[in-house]
Amino acid sequence: MGFLRKAKALFHDDWCQECLDPMTLQKKQLFALPMTVGHYVSHDNPAYYVQHTTPVAKKAEIPTGFYACGSYIYHCPKCGKTVVKIVNFLPVRDAEQIEEAFLYADKDLVQYIQNI
Ligand SMILES: [Zn+2]
Repeated sequence: MGFLRKAKALFHDDWCQECLDPMTLQKKQLFALPMTVGHYVSHDNPAYYVQHTTPVAKKAEIPTGFYACGSYIYHCPKCGKTVVKIVNFLPVRDAEQIEEAFLYADKDLVQYIQNI
């Protein structure tokens, strides 16, 4: 496996870090976070997202001044690995002010999102 291919995979959250191949997007789900503008606290424990997020159908359902969380389930067709990308952002008019992004291979979090 070439160095370039490896380096490329590092910059693609949706590439399998083991196979260095693009993964398939299985599901997208938007959540409201119980944090308001100016009071953002970083949470890197996947359990936080299982316990504290509220699923919403669209961005318009996020109360004004509250943070949103976009989640994306990716599946690697080669090795069968499933990961979740979490992107926390503040919806501002037509834009998204991204605060943080995480990548988890956490079974509970995958199941939580898949069951919505
Ligand atoms: Zn893989």
